[in-house]
Amino acid sequence: MNENRDRLRIAVQKSGRLSEQSLALLRRAGLAFRASRDRLFLYGENMPVDVLLVRDDDIPGLLIEGSCELGIVGRNVLDEQRLAVPDQPAPTELQALGFGGCRLAIAVPDNGPLGSIDDLAGTRIATSYPAHLADWLRARNIKAEIVVLNGSVEIAPRLGKAHAICDLVSSGATLAANQLHELVTVMKSEAVLALSPRTQNATTAAQIERLCARIAGAQSGDGVRLLMLQAPRSALPAITRLLPACNTPSVLSLDNQPDAVAIQALCSDALDWHHLEELKRLGASGLMVLNVERMLV
Ligand code: ATP
Ligand code: ZN
Repeated sequence: MNENRDRLRIAVQKSGRLSEQSLALLRRAGLAFRASRDRLFLYGENMPVDVLLVRDDDIPGLLIEGSCELGIVGRNVLDEQRLAVPDQPAPTELQALGFGGCRLAIAVPDNGPLGSIDDLAGTRIATSYPAHLADWLRARNIKAEIVVLNGSVEIAPRLGKAHAICDLVSSGATLAANQLHELVTVMKSEAVLALSPRTQNATTAAQIERLCARIAGAQSGDGVRLLMLQAPRSALPAITRLLPACNTPSVLSLDNQPDAVAIQALCSDALDWHHLEELKRLGASGLMVLNVERMLV
C-alpha cells in the first residue's frame, strides 16, 4: 500500500454497466460506505477500505501506479492495457466475478463480401481495442489495417471508414440494428477482480487477502440456493439424483422418525418449480429454497 495511507483502495466504475453490480458485490462482502460530497469516493465505514469511483479505462493505470490495490473492471479493459504495454508490470486477474459478461467480436456487414476470417486480409477494421485486435490478427498471420475509434464503432462500416469492426457484443442487438453480424469471437470477457502489480508489505498483503476472500465468498453465493426438505428415507436416492446440487447433500435424522430424514442441499439456481413439484411427488414435504448470501468454504 502507498506509504502515506493505511487504508486499502478499490477502484470501481463510477457510472456504467459495471457500477451497480460492483458496489452490490462489495456490500455483500460486508463493506458499508458513506459517499464523499463530490461522489468520487466512498468511505468504508466498517473496514479500512475505501472505494474510488472512476472511468473504467482508468482502472488498470490506477492499479499499475499503486493508487489502488484492487479494482473491479472488465477483462477486456484489463487485457487491452496489458497487451498494449507488454513490458510493463501488469495487474493480475484474481477472480472472475460473474457479471458484465460480453465478448469482443469481429463483425461484418450483412449481405457483404466478407464471409470468413480469411476474407479479412487487406481490409480495414475499426475498433476501440487495437491491442487485442492486433494480437489476434498477428496470431493468425492476417494482414489488415486497424482503425482506432473511441466510440460508435458500429457505424464505421456505413460511414465507409472500415470494412469490418471489432467491438464488444452481449446480446447482438446493436450489431443487428446496424446491419452487422458476428464473424468470430476474439475474446470472452466479464467483470474481474484485479490486483495491483505493486509489491505490498505483509500487513497490506494480509488485508488484501482477507478482502479478496470476502469478495470470493460473496460471489460464490451468487446463483446458489439452499434447499431444505424432509422426506422418507427410502426416497433419498431418487431425490439426490434429481437435484442440480453443488455438493453432496447433508442428510439428518429426525427424532423419533426412523423412516424419515431432513435434507439440506446447496443447489445451482437451475433449481426451479419443476424440481420442487417432482420432489413433492417423491414424498418430500416442508420444501424451502433460500438464497445464499455468502459462503466461506
Ligand atoms: P466509462 O464511462 O467508465 O468509460 P464505458 O462507456 O467505457 O464507461 P460501459 O459501456 O459502461 O463502459 O461498459 C463497461 C464494461 O461493461 C465494458 O468494458 C465491458 O467489460 C462490459 N460490457 C458488458 N456488456 C457490454 C456491451 N454489450 N457493450 C459494452 N460493454 C459491455
Ligand atoms: Zn470506458
